Amino acid sequence: MARNTIARIHPDAVAHNLRQVRERAPGSRVMAVVKADAYGHRIDLCLPALAGADMLAVATIEEARAIRRLGNGLPVLLLEGVTDPGDLAVASELGLELTVHHRNQMEALGRFGRQVTPRVWLKVDSGMHRLGVDQAEAAELHHRLLQLPGVERVNLMSHLACAEQTGHPLNTLQLERFDSTVFGLEGEHCLANSAAIFGWPAIHRDWVRAGIVLYGISPMEVGSGSDLGLRPAMTLTSELLAVNRVPAGECIGYGGRFVTPDDMLIGVAAIGYGDGYPRSMADGAPVLVNGRRCRLAGRVSMDMITIDLADCPDAKIGDPVVLWGNDLPIEEVARSAGTIPYELVCRITRRVRYRAQSARHAPGKVK
Ligand SMILES: *Cc1c(COP(=O)(O)O)cnc(C)c1O
Repeated sequence: MARNTIARIHPDAVAHNLRQVRERAPGSRVMAVVKADAYGHRIDLCLPALAGADMLAVATIEEARAIRRLGNGLPVLLLEGVTDPGDLAVASELGLELTVHHRNQMEALGRFGRQVTPRVWLKVDSGMHRLGVDQAEAAELHHRLLQLPGVERVNLMSHLACAEQTGHPLNTLQLERFDSTVFGLEGEHCLANSAAIFGWPAIHRDWVRAGIVLYGISPMEVGSGSDLGLRPAMTLTSELLAVNRVPAGECIGYGGRFVTPDDMLIGVAAIGYGDGYPRSMADGAPVLVNGRRCRLAGRVSMDMITIDLADCPDAKIGDPVVLWGNDLPIEEVARSAGTIPYELVCRITRRVRYRAQSARHAPGKVK
């Protein structure tokens, strides 16, 4: 029998989360961000639930190709544009829309000399200083882009560095800079990521870019997706391989990080950093066994973790273990590992099997 370490993907939750985004941003069109294989949820399992989006957005041309292979006809934006000019022909063939964040990209389009897409997205750096053209050159580039073969529209985009920190002074500064940069330029505006969709309605404008919230995860620094009316799109599950009684004063796992204060019942579950469950996870991190909250005890190994079963004394070999998802907020789990949920879902490795399954039937719900 195959190892029972499974990422259960809930397309019904993805569809629900997209509806929540629409309710929060009723006047805007929605770009569904599905980069990094739908934030580790697998694009093939999530796309059907995103049929109601106005557009998809990815980071790489390979990700865009995967979407076209699945037969999806929605507009697709390359968020970082084309990095290798040799890919412009491919972008054209796949019918992709392009971000232009640098003068070089515009010049490459000029040299290409044929239409790639009628709609280009000019990205302005409003203060994050990652990608985007300078405020001073935006008007000139906007004008020149419109003169390229087949370009009919140039939309205006920028990205916020601190949107998840409501009230951060950089937010209003970025907005002011964006507005003054694009003043008088024709084109639709797109600023809001997930955090701004839920936290800053004033900047919704023509388009919003919804990423992490589609997967039911909160972009905010505190709380979880359910506080925002979202449902987790992934429940990561495994099962107990062993249940052992360990006397007081013994070490559990590598490095002897955890020492039993008392006689303890320790469960061993089939998941580890080889599956993407981070080695940085601290003792006490929450884990559900049979739907009951237990605590990680000892260092995460490549293939296994060890769990204090004090709160699940009747646990036995084969019992279900939930690492995050239904009834166990990934936001809380990420904090125990000193990271953010974005990283946890993107890091799941190829060894984990994926299965599409309605959220109602996922193990977290079975008590
Ligand atoms: C990934 C990404 C997003 C989505 O961010 P979320 O926080 O997941 O909503 C939006 N815009 C750009 C440019 C991105 O790279």
